Amino acid sequence: MRTRFPPSPTGFLHVGSLRTALTNHLLSKKTKGNFLMRIEDTDRERLVPGAVENMLKGLAWAGIVPDEGVMLDSNGEVVQKGTHGPYYQSERLDLYKKYAAELIEKGHAYYCFCTPERLTEMRKEQEARKQAPMYDRRCCNLSKEDVDAKLKAGERHVIRMKVPHERTITFNDDIRGEMKFQGHTVDDQVLLKGDGFPTYHLAHVVDDHLMETDLVIRGEEWLSSLPKHILLFEWLGWTPPQYAHVPLLLSKDRKKLSKRDGDVAVEEYIAKGYLPEVMVNFLALLGWNPGTTQEIFTMDELIEQFSLDRVQKAGAIFDLEKLDWLQGQWMRKISPQEFAKRILPLVTEKFPTAASDKDFIKKAQLIQERITFFHEAPEMLTWFYKEPHASVELLASEKQKITKAQLPEIFAILEKTLSDVPEKNWTVDGLKDAVLKNLGDFKQGQLLWPLRAALTGLPYSPGAFEVAEALGKEKVLHRLANAKKTT
Ligand code: GLU
Repeated sequence: MRTRFPPSPTGFLHVGSLRTALTNHLLSKKTKGNFLMRIEDTDRERLVPGAVENMLKGLAWAGIVPDEGVMLDSNGEVVQKGTHGPYYQSERLDLYKKYAAELIEKGHAYYCFCTPERLTEMRKEQEARKQAPMYDRRCCNLSKEDVDAKLKAGERHVIRMKVPHERTITFNDDIRGEMKFQGHTVDDQVLLKGDGFPTYHLAHVVDDHLMETDLVIRGEEWLSSLPKHILLFEWLGWTPPQYAHVPLLLSKDRKKLSKRDGDVAVEEYIAKGYLPEVMVNFLALLGWNPGTTQEIFTMDELIEQFSLDRVQKAGAIFDLEKLDWLQGQWMRKISPQEFAKRILPLVTEKFPTAASDKDFIKKAQLIQERITFFHEAPEMLTWFYKEPHASVELLASEKQKITKAQLPEIFAILEKTLSDVPEKNWTVDGLKDAVLKNLGDFKQGQLLWPLRAALTGLPYSPGAFEVAEALGKEKVLHRLANAKKTT
């Protein structure tokens, strides 16, 4: 199945675009077809330099590399490759002109000479009459002589499609099933603009036909334009591809996802430290239900399991809590060696002695269970490299039912118990055994919380015994003595 991703190079790579690119990529790979990238650069005023390269880099980060079309070569340069090019619409203008002329010839399109001022006036009147804004077809009724004269005089014009008002246009969408559109509700869309560039509507129909696209997966916002596209395919004598309109991405309050709801640019997620695997996993699950309880998917598993018949029609909530949860899950999946390797440079930057720590992997292991982003590692390991300051407020805990008044006694027990533990028993199990046998009148939590807090100075950290083992006896007793002084 040939699928495609045709962004307009008007800015950054939006998370919604990455999601449609991913969906197209998955289905082409599933069927061992090509995934191609085309650049829809027909809106000349909105072009942003560097956007294409940026988008390709964002896709590559996620593990999506086009098989054909616009891509990055081994030097990171943007190039075009493939037998169906050129893949920039701005290099295909003659084709669009040719097909627009064919549509005029066949009576399915007409020249429109209305000025922008006239169109604004027309819209205002329609609004006042509470009518839907639509071109009123003034130029559709011009005589052939009038049209020829105006063209000859070089009057600025566009070409519009002539939508048959009496028709019902029917089409089967791969996600939504049968769709019906009444012709009289469809606007006479501009196909070719005054500057000679096509609109999206004509350009994508011509390109998806000539590039032999089998399946167009695009955002729901294009659904209302579908009848225009179906008519164009029909008039040009071409079979349309399959279409699947994926649901909109919604914010938590079920509004269309926008900048106000947080980051919408993929690069912001990269900068925050999300793993590419997480983003792919998260985006694939937006609106798609695998039909099982599985939530963690690798790209390969998605290629195997993803299908459009399990994509919902309703909008998909972009749930950042779920994203963070997935990030945590993926962090745990990394091997201990790889995890230590990834965080070592970050930790070393803050604590240079980590570089020569032969047991670094052990420390890394203590935080891998709790970490969300690699960049949190130095902070999470601070307790190991730097003596903490644990306040009385932290050492006592209402939740653990520890009052400030009890702290001196608690620390006395801890100091006594731990200084009696011989070096050879200084392990998680050995320490646990010793402390649990010497609780005095206290409950387990009443000793473990202050111990952990005294050793790390943090409200959350690895467990007390793991921390104590990693620090070693000498440091532990020293920190206990310090904490005791504050009580
Ligand atoms: N250039 C269009 C966009 O960026 C492409 C839509 C499509 O997939 O056909 O929205």
